[in-house]
Amino acid sequence: MNVIMLGPPGVGKGTQAMELSKICGIPQISTGDILRANVKQGTPLGLQAKAIMERGELLPDAVVIGIIAARLEEPDCESGFILDGFPRTVAQADALEEMLTRQGKRIDHVINVQAGDEVLTRRISGRRTCRSCGRMYHVEYDPPSSPGICDTCGGELYQRDDDREGTVQRRLEEYRAKTQPLIQYYSGRGLLREVDGEAPRETVLKSMRELLGV
Ligand code: AMP
Repeated sequence: MNVIMLGPPGVGKGTQAMELSKICGIPQISTGDILRANVKQGTPLGLQAKAIMERGELLPDAVVIGIIAARLEEPDCESGFILDGFPRTVAQADALEEMLTRQGKRIDHVINVQAGDEVLTRRISGRRTCRSCGRMYHVEYDPPSSPGICDTCGGELYQRDDDREGTVQRRLEEYRAKTQPLIQYYSGRGLLREVDGEAPRETVLKSMRELLGV
């Protein structure tokens, strides 16, 4: 099963994608995670991405399309994948369609998770991420048992640079201008499934499982 998670930053796509990935036994592919790993390792891609990400802007389409093209060729994608944070523009969606057609594959579901700006801003500003395993927490709604330490792996929790207040508005603007048109794009192809991202996390997961039949 090949799934796209669509939605604004902070809506909970990553958290839900991680859960669904475990349930379905297929990889979660997050362009944001791949880029952050490159920034951490100081690769040429990471050096290019760092400043753009800190400004809350999108990387050039060609760069992220290249990343995804290589990732989808890996053997663990054979039985399916969950794309989280890609595509984010119509050009990326077109490129994805081409890649999949070449591989004899197609997208089965696009889950559109929605929430209002106020909820998104609150969620993003309280979000903390584990440096080691990537698990996400919220200081208020979903705190770890010991402050600053990941329950799963004991790793250090940190606030992403682009989760700081100044950058969040820019990310939301980028989403509205460049990513929102994908709602129309995929609903026109009959692939769009809507989920209320303001519902409690367990309810959101339950709705997604029902939609995907898993
Ligand atoms: P995310 O973790 O999905 O919120 O992504 C963090 C940042 O990585 C974004 O704000 C962009 O700067 C960059 N990024 C991630 N995915 C994409 C993409 N598909 N296209 C362009 N930039 C991306």
